[in-house]
Amino acid sequence: MLDVLRRIVQDVNSAPNLQSALDVLVSSVRSTMGTEVCSVYLLDEVSSRYVLMATEGLNAEAIGHVSLGLTEGLVGQVGLREEPLNLDDAASHPKFRYLPETGEERYNSFLGVPIMHRRKILGVLVVQQQDKRKFDASEEAFLVTVSAQLSGVVAHAKVVGGLDTLRGNKASAVSIFKGVPGAPGVALGRVLVIYPPADLESIPDRSCEDIEHEIGLFEEAVAAVRVSINELDRKMAGSLMAEERALFEVYLRMLDDQGLVGEIIERIRAGNWAQGALRAVIEEHVQAFKSMDDPYLRERMADIKDLGLRMLAQLQKQRDVRQPDYQDNTILVGEEIPTSVLVEQPLEKIAGICTVQGSSNAHMAIVARALGIPTVVGVNELPVTSLDAMEVVVDGYQGRLYINPSKQLRKRYKDIIRDEKQYSAGLEAYRDLPAQTPDGHRLSIYVNTGLMVDVARSKDRGAEGVGLYRSEIPFMMRERFPSEEEQCAIYRYQLESFAPRPVTMRTLDIGGDKDLPYFPIEEENPALGWRGIRVTLDHPELFMVQVRAMLKASIGLNNLQIMLPMVSSVFEIEEAQHLIHRAVLEVEEELSETVPYPRVGIMVEVPAAMLQVRDMAQLVDFVSVGSNDLIQYLLAVDRNNPRVADIYNAYHPSVLRSIKHMVDEVHAEGKPVGICGEMAGDPCTATLLLAMGFDSLSMSSSNLLRIKKLVCEMPLARARALLDRVLVVDSGAVIRSLVEYELEDMGLGDLIRRPGRGPAST
Ligand code: PEP
Ligand code: MG
Repeated sequence: MLDVLRRIVQDVNSAPNLQSALDVLVSSVRSTMGTEVCSVYLLDEVSSRYVLMATEGLNAEAIGHVSLGLTEGLVGQVGLREEPLNLDDAASHPKFRYLPETGEERYNSFLGVPIMHRRKILGVLVVQQQDKRKFDASEEAFLVTVSAQLSGVVAHAKVVGGLDTLRGNKASAVSIFKGVPGAPGVALGRVLVIYPPADLESIPDRSCEDIEHEIGLFEEAVAAVRVSINELDRKMAGSLMAEERALFEVYLRMLDDQGLVGEIIERIRAGNWAQGALRAVIEEHVQAFKSMDDPYLRERMADIKDLGLRMLAQLQKQRDVRQPDYQDNTILVGEEIPTSVLVEQPLEKIAGICTVQGSSNAHMAIVARALGIPTVVGVNELPVTSLDAMEVVVDGYQGRLYINPSKQLRKRYKDIIRDEKQYSAGLEAYRDLPAQTPDGHRLSIYVNTGLMVDVARSKDRGAEGVGLYRSEIPFMMRERFPSEEEQCAIYRYQLESFAPRPVTMRTLDIGGDKDLPYFPIEEENPALGWRGIRVTLDHPELFMVQVRAMLKASIGLNNLQIMLPMVSSVFEIEEAQHLIHRAVLEVEEELSETVPYPRVGIMVEVPAAMLQVRDMAQLVDFVSVGSNDLIQYLLAVDRNNPRVADIYNAYHPSVLRSIKHMVDEVHAEGKPVGICGEMAGDPCTATLLLAMGFDSLSMSSSNLLRIKKLVCEMPLARARALLDRVLVVDSGAVIRSLVEYELEDMGLGDLIRRPGRGPAST
C-alpha cells in the first residue's frame, strides 16, 4: 500500500499544473480503490464555495460549473466538521443535496474526507459507489492518508497555478503570500532570486536580453561537458569494463543536438536564460522517467539529473565572473538566505527580503532587523523560481509579500514608507536624553552589533555601549577563519568606536542556524548539538586566537567585556576562564606589557543555566539573558521552523517567570544582569523587562530610539504594577493584550502601532 501511495503522490507531484494534478489524483484514487467515482472539490476563497474541480465517474461537463456553499450538501458537511463522512445511503442523510448536473443519483455510498493544510480546509476528496455499503476502515484510512499527503501539493499547485495566470496577464489582481514578520518596515522593488550554487531545482526563470549570446554560452558549456566526459571515459579505460563505460556513450548521445540540447536551446529562444531553460527541460525529462514502470528506465533518471548538474556547473563557472545586476530597491527572494550570503550582498541596494524558510528569530532575520531591511520569512507556498524580476511589496510588519501590486497598493505603501521616515525623525529628540524613567530609575540602553555599518547607526541613535557584539558575523564574510591580526583590526574598530563605553564581545557562536561556509557543521538536530561554547572549547586553538585578538585590540582602551554563549554548566565557564587567563599571560609575554584582565560574563540561553544562574553568577562579572534561544529551549520550539512560529511566544508565562527569577537571583549575588535577545527591542516586552529590574537592555540599532522613548515616558512604578498583574495570568495571548492596552492607555500606542500596520484592503 505504501508503494501505491508513494506512486500517487509522485504522479500528482509531477503534474505540470493544478488541473492536471487534480486529474491525476482522481484517476489514481479511483483505480486504486476500485470505486466508480472519485472527485475533488476545492474551496474557492472568493466565492466561499466548494467547486467541483476534477472527477472520474461524474459528468465531465459539471467540472468547474457545479459548486456547493460552505454548509451545503455532504461536501459542505465534511468541510464544516473537518472530518470524514462515510455513508452507505447518501440520499438519506439530512444534508444530502441532489446536483442534477453531475449524474450522481446512481451512487448510493459516499465517503468524503477533508483536504486540510495548516489547519485550513482546502477542499474535499470524495469517492462514491452504486453498492449500498459503508466503506471499510482500511478504505477510509487510505483516503485520509492520500488527502493528508497531498494537501501540501494541492496548496502549492493552487498558488503556482494562480501565479502563472498572473504572469501572463499583467492587469490581473495582486497575489498575496502570507509568512511571518522577520524585520519591520515595508519595501517596494523588484525581485532578485538568490539560489545556492550547484542546485538545479532552485534555479529561477530569468529573462535574457541577448538570446544569441545566451545560446552561445550554453553551447560552450555543452562542449566543455563533452570534453570532460571523453576525458573521464579515457581515464576509466583501465579500470572499468566496456559495458560499464557504455554510460559515457549514453551521456554523449544525450548531448546530441536533436535531443536534450535542442530542447534547451528552444527554451532559450523563447526568452529564458540558459540555466532556467536547463532546469525546466531536465525537470520535464525526470518527471517522464519517474512515471515509467520499467526499473531500468527509471534508473536513467539519475543519469539525466547527473548530466543536468554537469551542464549547470559549466554554466555557473562562466557566470561566476559576472555578478548579478543589482538594481536600486532590490528585493532578495530565496528558499533560504543564509546570513553569510546576506552579508555579502551590496546592502545599499537591498530594500527587502523574503524567504520560504526561517522564522522571526532565525539569525538571518535578526541580522536583517539590525540592518533595518524589511523582511518576511516562512512564506511556505512561495514559488521562488517564478518570481525573478517581478515587482513586489514586502510588508515586514504583517509578514506579507504582494506580487504584482496594483497602482493603489503601490501608492499606499509609498505613503507608509514616507510616514515611517517622518516618524523616525520625530524620535530623534530622544537621542541625547539619558535612559531614565520619569520617576528617576536609570538603566543602560546598549546596542547589538556585528557589521561595520552597525557602528555608525548605533552612535547616531544614542547607544551607551555594546551589549552584544556577534563576533561570528565577520567570520561569515570570509572564506577561511580570519587570522589573529585580521581579527584584532576588526575588534579594534568596534572597541575604539565606542570607547570609553563598554563593548561586550561574544566569543564565536556558531552551530545551530549559524554556519560558516568553510566550517560546515552537519547534524541531525543542530539546535541541540555542537554550538557556541561547546565548539570553541573543543577547539581551544580557535578560542585562544580570538581572545588574544580581543585583548590586543583593547590595549589602551580597556572597554572590553568578554561574553560566553550557550553555557550549560559551571565546568564550561571554568574551562573558558582558564583559557582566557592563559591568553592574558601570553599577550603580556608577547608584548612585554601588562594587559588588564577583561570583565567576563555569560549568556543564559539554556534552561539548565537559568536554573543554576546563581552558582554561575558567582563565577563571573555579569550575566546577559539570551532570550532568543532561551525561549526556543524553554518552549521546545525551533526558532527557525515556520511551522511552529506561532508557538514561539515571548509572553508565555513560563518565559516571563523564568526571566524574572533570573534577575532576582543574579541581583542576590550582587552582579549586574542585562538582556540582549529580541525581547529587549520590543516596546511591549521591554516594558516588562524594565519592571523586572534589568540593569541594561541591548537591542538592534533600529529599535534604540523607540525603546529610549519608552523608558523616558514610562514610570517604573506603573511598569511594576503591570508586571505584578501579568505574572499571575496563565495565557501569553492575554498578557500581550494587557501590555498593549497599557501602552495605548498611556498614549504610547505609536510605539506599537507603526505606520505600516497594514493596508485595510488591497
Ligand atoms: C539569543 O539567543 O538571545 C541571542 C542574543 O543570541 P543569538 O540570537 O545570536 O543566538
Ligand atoms: Mg543565542
